[in-house]
Amino acid sequence: MRFCIVGAGFSGAVLARRLAEAGHQSVVLDERRHVAGNCHTERDAATGIMLHRYGPHIFHTADREVWDYVNRFGRMMPYVNRVKALSGGAVYSLPVNLHTINQFFGTTMNPAEARAFVAAQARRDITEPANFEEQALSMVGDRIYRAFFRGYTRKQWGLDPTELPASILKRLPLRFNYDDNYFNHPFQGMPADGYTAIVAGILDHPGIDVRLGCRFEEAGGDFAHVFYTGPLDRYFGYQLGRLGYRTLDFEEVRAEGDLLGTAVLNYCDEDVPFTRISEHKYFAPWEADRFTGTVCFREYSRLGGAEDIPYYPIRLVGEKSMLSDYVALARRTQGISFLGRLGTYRYLDMDVTIREAMDAATATLERLAEGAAPPAFFLDPLG
Ligand SMILES: Cc1cc2nc3c(=O)[nH]c(=O)nc-3n(C[C@H](O)[C@H](O)[C@H](O)COP(=O)(O)OP(=O)(O)OC[C@H]3O[C@@H](n4cnc5c(N)ncnc54)[C@H](O)[C@@H]3O)c2cc1C
Repeated sequence: MRFCIVGAGFSGAVLARRLAEAGHQSVVLDERRHVAGNCHTERDAATGIMLHRYGPHIFHTADREVWDYVNRFGRMMPYVNRVKALSGGAVYSLPVNLHTINQFFGTTMNPAEARAFVAAQARRDITEPANFEEQALSMVGDRIYRAFFRGYTRKQWGLDPTELPASILKRLPLRFNYDDNYFNHPFQGMPADGYTAIVAGILDHPGIDVRLGCRFEEAGGDFAHVFYTGPLDRYFGYQLGRLGYRTLDFEEVRAEGDLLGTAVLNYCDEDVPFTRISEHKYFAPWEADRFTGTVCFREYSRLGGAEDIPYYPIRLVGEKSMLSDYVALARRTQGISFLGRLGTYRYLDMDVTIREAMDAATATLERLAEGAAPPAFFLDPLG
């Protein structure tokens, strides 16, 4: 069969590859001039540094099959994400760990002492937290919350933490040892040649025809089925309204030598307008010494407008209600399936994106074998 797959990010590429390996043809369209979607990386023409064009991407997963899959298409180099944070004029390490706690309170506590100390700071009177702020206060108390969570969250979401659901902070990123590895997953790494090379490798199959600079709306063609990894509301011409996204503005800073001396520095204080700065040569520590110059990006978060790149789905009560209407509309529409972060309006890490695309391919092949059409969604976007 011949399919149309909209979007050449990880979702579209992995799906196309699995279908191609099962003997099907796909045309993969992307309106951008490159593959890899928001994971796109390219070497900076002036310095040679590998830049993450749509924000820093670190690969981490607990899914062995997904890890093996990315390693099949690219060489993953060891990389541990260690994030620093500036708060109240001092530099700390994140996630909040024993070093952060001892430094912040000027103490030398051991793990048990620190655990008891933080528990004593927690607001025990908040038994059923009604929002993000109450959740944080009930877990860490006022001082840690204000230093590391409040300002950053307000900048990131453009909302007061009292307006955000408590569920955002179900798992508190707090450690009572000196482990400053940002992620808990057993597999973590960075592709030696960038993510775009990996996605290009996935798409490199005789059953896949990639067309870049091509919008689905203008593409035309006769296909057995369409798989759409673009924005769900966009497919329907925004007829039920626009699903809200946060967008990001990146302000480039170039210099000789180093600017941060690390990959990511978060700015927790609210009076600093950006959320973080990333120094991209440090995402490739194996080659960082090679570059005499440096390229950094200050990251500003704001509500996305019609012309902006949709980055983080907002998914508060209003958006979920609109999403529910779009999901119902999609389920009534024939010949198309929606997947990926934009097609299902969810924040997805790369490993989850790849896993979901693999599973979508498996489900599609099973449906086709039964003579049935693929479903509108391979999982419930509202779940
Ligand atoms: C700032 C930021 C940082 C992140 N950092 C990490 C990280 O460190 N680790 C991690 O695992 N994940 C990270 N992610 C998540 C990662 O970006 C996603 O998992 C991944 O991009 C999802 O891939 P996708 O194919 O579903 O979507 P996308 O990458 O968005 O690809 C969709 C593609 O579809 C194209 N498209 C859409 N509509 C149309 C249309 N109508 N016609 C033609 N083309 C169309 C778009 O141009 C785009 O290229 C981060 C995300 C953000 C926002």
